[in-house]
Amino acid sequence: MADYDFDLFVIGGGSGGVRAARIASGHGARVGICEEYRYGGTCVIRGCVPKKLFVYASHFADDFEDAASYGWSLNGTPSFDWPTLVANKDKEIDRLNGIYIRLLQGANVEVLDGRGVLQDANTIQVGDRTVTAETILVAVGGTPMKPDIAGIEHAITSNEAFHLETLPQHITVVGGGYIAVEFAGIFNGLGRDVVQLYRGEQILRGFDDDVRDHLAIELRKKGINLRIGQNPDRLETIDGGVRVHLETGETFDTGLVMYATGRIPNTRGLGLEAAGVATDKGGAIKVDDWSRTNIANIYAVGDVTDRIQLTPVALMEGHAFADTVFGTNPRKPDHHDVPSAVFSQPPIGSVGLSEAEARAKYGDIDLYKSTFTPMRHTMTPSDEKTFMKLIVDAKSDRVVGAHMVGPDAAEIVQGLGIALKCGATKAQFDATVGIHPSAAEEFVTMRSKWTPPTAKAAE
Ligand code: NDP
Repeated sequence: MADYDFDLFVIGGGSGGVRAARIASGHGARVGICEEYRYGGTCVIRGCVPKKLFVYASHFADDFEDAASYGWSLNGTPSFDWPTLVANKDKEIDRLNGIYIRLLQGANVEVLDGRGVLQDANTIQVGDRTVTAETILVAVGGTPMKPDIAGIEHAITSNEAFHLETLPQHITVVGGGYIAVEFAGIFNGLGRDVVQLYRGEQILRGFDDDVRDHLAIELRKKGINLRIGQNPDRLETIDGGVRVHLETGETFDTGLVMYATGRIPNTRGLGLEAAGVATDKGGAIKVDDWSRTNIANIYAVGDVTDRIQLTPVALMEGHAFADTVFGTNPRKPDHHDVPSAVFSQPPIGSVGLSEAEARAKYGDIDLYKSTFTPMRHTMTPSDEKTFMKLIVDAKSDRVVGAHMVGPDAAEIVQGLGIALKCGATKAQFDATVGIHPSAAEEFVTMRSKWTPPTAKAAE
């Protein structure tokens, strides 16, 4: 057997790579890892974590407003300081970056700083060091994609949004996916005038249609100028900002344009050709159910494979890979019924199938829907509404989709994710005692099947 420096070398110190490295080392493998920027990856450094901190920051405006209804008076108008938020967020990210490095070192993983480039199927160049490994895991993640329109260099992405020196009063967000919706909410909550441009018919393609429609209504209530079916044709710098030229010919001026139009795999310049690793036409590394590429000793996990771009999915893939190749518990990552949340305001929690997917898969489905005022707002002037929906396969009575738009949706739907994973039926939901008073109890008290308004009228 060839004598390699490592049993496993991981390229990329994000969620998937770090998890795989630690678990493989725990199984007794000699493991090395390299990272070109900071350990923690997109999620910790410029994704989920700083984003959620910004979401918390932006919620205070609503909290201050609601406080009066509960008897509080604030002495003077609360004011917000963006540089303080950015500096405190940076401190927290530094702390987490340090934790990641210590976790790796504590697990006996050799940590190399620098970009890893494949030289062949067993050799990686990291800076001026060349290392060899029997098995290689590529976990280099993805990066924001901006379409190639004139003046696109004047637009930022979420990467830069975390480090802006100032936050202009008027901000335009382009896109209708997770990141666009989340940042439109953040900027709006921080008191900015926000225009969100989405090219299609409704934001959040792929989510349940009722969820999409409900959120769009709530975003507009909050003051976001959500413009559907609108897309920039070109951008132009002007004094103090950017002029947006829409495809319709209309123009408007804004202080900042942020594009959130998807993320692409970080595979350029990685040496995949030298190692013979195949990618799809979008640059994502092709893998089988075991995260193995077309080269037998090279695996890939996380966003670089473009399966489901979520941190917990990368963690699952990295862990399953390490257990399979270095442990005694071979298993494939399971990409079914993956719950997810959009930290919009109000947030979305979602698990299982949308109504359209369930109808296509099962044909005969029952729907349960509920729209209500969150208890907190029964005493405030807010007209925010919470929406919940259960989708049931009529034949088996199994709940195949659970969706929510409203406060704490992520916290609530995480639990429902377990129920769906266990194959819970609607009868079992009904047999579960609610927690009162909570919003979550609505999920176990929705008794009446939803019927379309026309059918009701005909009754
Ligand atoms: P998404 O794929 O979610 O959304 C991209 C959006 O940009 C879509 O609305 C898409 O429109 C639009 N778009 C794509 N290309 C263009 C174009 N050329 N011109 C105009 N609009 C365009 O990507 P995001 O960047 O929002 O997020 C990337 C991924 O990161 C997500 O898929 C998600 O998996 C993950 N993520 C998860 C979060 C969470 O769990 N809370 C938070 C943030 C990110 P259309 O629908 O018409 O294609």
